Amino acid sequence: MFENLSERLSGVFDRLTKQGALSEDDVRTALREVRVALLEADVSLPVARSFIKNVEKKATGAAVTKSITPGQQVVKIVHDELIATLRGEGDPGKLKIDNPPAPILMVGLQGSGKTTTTAKLAKRLKDREGKKVLMASLDTNRPAAMEQLAILGTQIGVDTLPIVPGEDPVQIAKRANTQASLAGYDVYMLDTAGRLHIDEELIAQAAAVRDVANPRETLLVVDGLTGQDAVNVATEFDDKIGVSGVVLTRMDGDGRGGAALSMREITGKPIRFVGLGEKMDAIETFEPERIAGRILG
Ligand code: GDP
Repeated sequence: MFENLSERLSGVFDRLTKQGALSEDDVRTALREVRVALLEADVSLPVARSFIKNVEKKATGAAVTKSITPGQQVVKIVHDELIATLRGEGDPGKLKIDNPPAPILMVGLQGSGKTTTTAKLAKRLKDREGKKVLMASLDTNRPAAMEQLAILGTQIGVDTLPIVPGEDPVQIAKRANTQASLAGYDVYMLDTAGRLHIDEELIAQAAAVRDVANPRETLLVVDGLTGQDAVNVATEFDDKIGVSGVVLTRMDGDGRGGAALSMREITGKPIRFVGLGEKMDAIETFEPERIAGRILG
């Protein structure tokens, strides 16, 4: 009947806001539909449950002023609760890059948009903060991936570390550090190898790089369209590598806010940026209000 979460919620609340008074049953009916919609949008069951429980608590006994209908009050409570769940601490767009050269480690599965995101963030640091950025690809198994980063670098006017055949990722990370220090870069970004699935080798490699680079930020790039899978990937990466934030890509698609909600609640990690397309400027700081608005339609 409803195509997605936003439509479902706007359908539910549309009906409610037209009513003069809101009974407990109305609240319960609405929240039941919210819960189903959250599940359909790939929000995990425990997250949907605790979310609904919080909203129910706040909606019950909440004062309804004259300027707002009871239905609108429920909408507001759901909206506020969504934002409270989605929001991390501090400014998600502010990367820790003091004490140059600051290493930023980029991790994620192959195809998540990691290399694209590395270049997008490098461009952003250059354009918005005037930073001198160096990018290095550590994907020694896939020469095409290394080449791709170099091509993007040329496109956006950001230097990439020259490719030296035969080096392993740890050696590349060390060379990036040396080069960044010698040539006065503010930031160097390490684009680690991706795989289709998390395996021991991938994790061992990322951990080895982390240990030599001592990154100021470790950003996990996940495909925002993969819902619960994205959350599982984030949980595993955080357990094994430790991440300082998440970038959700492909949020330009028929995006499901659900991934963002579960991500925040389950991993506790802040969502820092969202990818909104293939172009180099298609990245934005994560804004809970915007995602909440989208979930509610
Ligand atoms: P990697 O294997 O993780 O490094 O993935 P890539 O950076 O090569 O990206 C894989 C594909 O996804 C490319 O075609 C990118 O242009 C595309 N892509 C990356 N981020 C986004 C995004 O936010 N939105 C859309 N629509 N496409 C994206």
